[in-house]
Amino acid sequence: MAKRKHPRRGGPTHCPCGSGLNREGCCGPFLDGESIPQTAEALMRSRYTAFVERHTDYLLDTWLPGTRPSVLELEAGQQWLGLSVRATSGGGLEDETGQVEFVARSRIGGKGVRLHERSRFVRIDGRWYYADGDLLT
Ligand SMILES: [Zn+2]
Repeated sequence: MAKRKHPRRGGPTHCPCGSGLNREGCCGPFLDGESIPQTAEALMRSRYTAFVERHTDYLLDTWLPGTRPSVLELEAGQQWLGLSVRATSGGGLEDETGQVEFVARSRIGGKGVRLHERSRFVRIDGRWYYADGDLLT
């Protein structure tokens, strides 16, 4: 297992997913194609970071081929404010499926948007993919 870097808070490379780690010790290597997330939660966090960084290719690459949109248009001017993971089920090293419930906050045109979703993930050939999700209220 890779040695984990000492977490740094509030630094210039603080990971957007809110893990408290710096980007290179968290979602960075996944978005940069250097490694792949080992758990559904890690994939979910890296997809949030991809939304923040507007990394459309990563979002499409980590979408299950059966549910993946052919084109992904990100909301113009959407400012992401934070991610909070509420619950996980499955999605671990020994699992083939998993669910992650989260709340992601953003702002579009000055208006706050709260996305509360329970997402489903599937692992195929060792890679986690986002399948779909249910919106919660
Ligand atoms: Zn992260």
